[in-house]
Amino acid sequence: MNINEINKNWDFTIGLEIHVQLDCNSKIFSNCQYEYENSPNSLTCPTSLGLPGALPNVNQSAIESAIMFGKAVNGKISKNFTFARKHYFYPDLPKGYQISQFDQPIISGGSVPIWWNEKEFNIDLTRAHLEEDSGKSFHNNDSKKSNVDYNRSGAALIEIVTEPVIVHPEQAKIFMQRIKQIVNYINISKAEMEKGKLRCDANISLSKKGSGKFGVKTEIKNINSFRNVQRAIESEIIRQNKILNDGKEVQQATLTWNNDKNVAEIMRIKENADDYRYFPDPDLPPVSLEKSFIEDIKSSVPILPFEYEKKWMNKYNLSLNECMILSSSKDIAKYFEEVVGLDVSPKKASTWVSTELFRLFNEINTVFDSSKVEAKDLKILIDEIKKNKITQNSGKEILRALFETGKNISEILQSGDFDSSDMNITEIIENVLSDCQNEVLRYKNGEDKLIGFFIGQVNKETKGKVSHEVIIAELSKKLKD
Ligand code: ADP
Ligand code: MG
Repeated sequence: MNINEINKNWDFTIGLEIHVQLDCNSKIFSNCQYEYENSPNSLTCPTSLGLPGALPNVNQSAIESAIMFGKAVNGKISKNFTFARKHYFYPDLPKGYQISQFDQPIISGGSVPIWWNEKEFNIDLTRAHLEEDSGKSFHNNDSKKSNVDYNRSGAALIEIVTEPVIVHPEQAKIFMQRIKQIVNYINISKAEMEKGKLRCDANISLSKKGSGKFGVKTEIKNINSFRNVQRAIESEIIRQNKILNDGKEVQQATLTWNNDKNVAEIMRIKENADDYRYFPDPDLPPVSLEKSFIEDIKSSVPILPFEYEKKWMNKYNLSLNECMILSSSKDIAKYFEEVVGLDVSPKKASTWVSTELFRLFNEINTVFDSSKVEAKDLKILIDEIKKNKITQNSGKEILRALFETGKNISEILQSGDFDSSDMNITEIIENVLSDCQNEVLRYKNGEDKLIGFFIGQVNKETKGKVSHEVIIAELSKKLKD
C-alpha cells in the first residue's frame, strides 16, 4: 500500500532530531582542530580522547553559532545555560559520556516555516542545544576487526529537536532541506550531508485518523540524505501500518536505515526509556552571557530565505516556485535583490537569473557566483532588449559572453556583433518581399501562417540581430501596401 493510501486511515506523527556539525575551527571543548578528511587519529588531543585529567573549555564560536540559529528560528535564547553529561557506552565515545545539554539548553522553542503542497506549515521546535560529536567506528566484516577514528570526537554539533508536528514523510524531507538552507544562510555550517555534517533521527507514530491521540513511536537513527529521510519514514509507516492493521501493537523500538535493502530495520526493542544518567558536568561551570553579546550576534543574522520568499510573493508578485528557486542560496537571493534594486522588473529579473544565468552555471557544474555577471550588466542587457536595441536571442549570447569572457557589457555591445543600428530594416524587408512575390500573393489571399516564413527570411538577412517585434511591425506595414 502506498503512503497516501495509508494516510486515508491513519494520521502520521513525525518528530525529527537533526544534528548539524558547526564549521568551527576547533572542537567544542578544546582547541584541537577538526577537519573532515584527515588520516585517522591525526586530529586528537587529551580532551577529545577523554584522557584522565583533561579539562574541557567551551568554544565561544559554537555558542555564537547557536545564538545565530536561535535568532533565525525565533527561539528563546538563554543568557544562562549549562552542560550535562549523557552517559552511554560505545567505543567511539572514549569518556563513556557525551557532553551535551539537558534541562537548560541554549535555545528553546522557535519554529521553521516550510512549504508543502503550496501551503505554509510552521514546524515548531522544542529546543536546539550544543553538544560534542563522537568518534567514528569502522567495522571490517572480512577481518572481523573494528577500528576507531577519534578525529571527529569533540567536533561541535547543534542538535535541533522538533515537536511532533510533522505530518508526512515528504514534509520531513522538506524540513531537513530547510534546516540546511538556514544554517547555510547564517553561515554556521555548510552542512554537507556527504560529509556527515547533517544527520537526522526520525521518530514516527501512527494514530487512527482524526483521533488526536499519539500512537507508540519508534525511532530511526542516523539517516544521512534527504532522499533517505523520506524513504526511511515511509518504510517505517508501511511497517507500522501492517502491525496495526493486523490488530497488534507497535512496540517502542530503535531502527536503522538499510541503504542496500531500502528498509528501516529494527536494532533493538525498547522495554523502557533510555537511562542516560544525565547530570551537570562538574568540569564546565554554568555559562552566563552578557545581554549585549547576544544582541551583537543577533544583529549579524542576515535576511532569511522564508523572509525573502514572502516579500517576493507579496511585493513582487512572483510565484512560490520562482521564489523558492531564487531563495535557494543567500548569494542568489542577494544578487536577485540587487538586480531588482536597479529598477528591473522582478519578473524579468527572475527569468533571467533563474533560467538563463542558472543554465550557464549548470553547464560548467559550479555553484552560483554573483561576480560572474555583474548585476548592473544584467540590468543593461535587460534594458537593451526592452528598448528593442538587441533581440532576446542576442541577449542570451551577450549573457554567455559576459559569463565566459569576463568582459564588461559595453565592450561586448561595442564589438558590433549584436548591434543592428547600422542595418536598414525597411530596405531589408522590401528586398525580402520582392524576392518572394509568390508567397506575398498567397499571404494576401489568406495564408496567414506565411508570416513566419517572412520573419525567417528577414532573420537570415539580419543574422538574428533585429527583434521579432520590430520585424513584425515593419512587415505588417509592408504587407498591407
Ligand atoms: P525520547 O524520550 O524518546 O527522546 P522525546 O519526547 O524527547 O522522546 O522526543 C524525541 C522526538 O520524538 C522529538 O522530536 C519529538 O517531537 C518526537 N516525538 C515525541 N512523541 C512522538 C510520537 N508519539 N510520535 C512521533 N514522534 C514523537
Ligand atoms: Mg531521542
